[in-house]
Amino acid sequence: MRAVVIREHGGLDALRFEERAVPEPGPREVRVRVRAVGLNHLDVWVRKGVPGHIFPLPLVPGCDVAGVVDALGPGATGCASGDEVGVAPGISCGRCLACREGSEPLCRSFGILGETRDGGLQEYVVVPDGSVLPRPEGLDLVQAASVPLTFLTAWHMLVNRAAVRAGEHVLVHAAGSGVSAAAIQIARLLGARVLATAGSDAKRQRALDLGAEEAIDYHGDFTAAARRFSGKRGMDVVVDHVGAATFDRSIRSLAKGGRYVTCGATSGYELKTDFRLVYFKSLSILGSTMGSNHELMRVLDHLGAGRLHAVVDAVLPWDEVGEAHRRLESREVFGKIVLVL
Ligand SMILES: [Zn+2]
Repeated sequence: MRAVVIREHGGLDALRFEERAVPEPGPREVRVRVRAVGLNHLDVWVRKGVPGHIFPLPLVPGCDVAGVVDALGPGATGCASGDEVGVAPGISCGRCLACREGSEPLCRSFGILGETRDGGLQEYVVVPDGSVLPRPEGLDLVQAASVPLTFLTAWHMLVNRAAVRAGEHVLVHAAGSGVSAAAIQIARLLGARVLATAGSDAKRQRALDLGAEEAIDYHGDFTAAARRFSGKRGMDVVVDHVGAATFDRSIRSLAKGGRYVTCGATSGYELKTDFRLVYFKSLSILGSTMGSNHELMRVLDHLGAGRLHAVVDAVLPWDEVGEAHRRLESREVFGKIVLVL
């Protein structure tokens, strides 16, 4: 079978196709014939490398996977050959306190498909049987591959970490990203009012289409817009993964008791602000990574029922994985790029 393998970190040419043996499912594992893989910024980090972080190379990238069950290992249950399925991207031990509490990302052995073990950019992938999820009705395999990582991340940020309530004012940065396109919809589903930022007119229009009440340029003075949008009170929640470029102004945009929730820092991770604001205004700074399996089931239920919508920008053949990375890095996308096999 063919597989995309990263042997060394680097540019687009670090994504190489190789021939590999079709993997055999072990005990309680399932082999899935991969049909669609959603691309995430995580894939770019895995390709380029992250200073101070060691990835287990060589590695097959791809964390958002959908396909057809092809073979079950000994004792595997919960699905049958021929089933159309998605794969939960997070993998944890299932036995520790964090896992039993339903906080799998806090498990010491938590890992992500395509980051800590071989992911989906290969014709066949083997995963634990507990990771296999039925394809939600109402989503095709391309849509199913476009949602898990971003929608789960956004759901955990808004529901679990920031605990967004109906009527609150929520600022969502970088609306064109997969996480933000999900966050706008989830905030609306929770009854919040959304102010979005984005870097172009086209992206701002798409943000409005997803349910944002107003969309502005984040290069401009979004603190003034936030003040006006919230009736001079300030935002209750800021949803961010931009980091250095927006952090200080985000903190200044928050109301008393406001929550800043982040799942990344793509523009730089050394952040600076006036910390007096944090204690005088009783602000919370909340980190968030992925989410729990029960949250993934809930968000997939909303997607299947049409209360939330997959946002797919482009579908490309997987031979164009390099072009897909290029588009993602140059931010020429709104929502997700999905590769089909
Ligand atoms: Zn665990």
